[in-house]
Amino acid sequence: MDNTRFVDQLQQGCQALGVGLSEDVPPKLLRLMSELIKWNAKVNLTAITAPEEVLEKHFLDSLAVLPEVEGAASLLDLGAGAGFPGLPLKLARPAMTVTLVDAVGKKVGFLKAAIAALGLKDARGLHARAEGKPEAEGIPRAEVLIARAFMDLPDWLNLAPAYVLPGGRVVAMLGKAQPEAELQARASERALRLVSSRQYRLPFSGAERQLAVFSQA
Ligand code: SAH
Repeated sequence: MDNTRFVDQLQQGCQALGVGLSEDVPPKLLRLMSELIKWNAKVNLTAITAPEEVLEKHFLDSLAVLPEVEGAASLLDLGAGAGFPGLPLKLARPAMTVTLVDAVGKKVGFLKAAIAALGLKDARGLHARAEGKPEAEGIPRAEVLIARAFMDLPDWLNLAPAYVLPGGRVVAMLGKAQPEAELQARASERALRLVSSRQYRLPFSGAERQLAVFSQA
């Protein structure tokens, strides 16, 4: 896939997802992809390296969350791995402070290198293991907590609230859709409130996704 087609597909995908992307973002995502592919040859970061797949399964899947993080001054991505969803979200919303945490040093090595290569300000890769004690772990709290492919919903709802600033929210990225009543039940068990949830599909593969947002009750 050449760069022109990549950018076209990206714009088309974002349109289908209902998220806006300014013109300067696609070239940055291309740069991120080349860093990812370069590093992946040495360090095992992701099984997804074909450009079509990186585009949809990493980039569009991350950018689909934009409506849920809109307006946040700070975002914390726990178990960020190769930087998803945090890095594409940072590229799309450069004013947002983004901290990307992973327990594996070589992944954080990539995150730091990618942040430097992209010249990102107010973005940080942090080598830490999140276990519910942000101060002790040196992990800063944020307005919005996010993670992808990190924990199942019950574990995520147990862990994430400790990292949220007062008035902030926890986003859950879910694969298989769960009924709203189920989400509400998981929330009220923990004195949380279900703020919103929505189901959608990725634009090219049709893969099902669900996003749920929680806050303190
Ligand atoms: N979010 C990325 C990576 C998912 S894999 C994506 O969707 O592509 C889960 C990642 O979480 C791995 O990189 C693993 O090293 C990291 N991880 C697992 N437990 C962790 C913990 N307690 N704290 C921080 N990172 C953790």
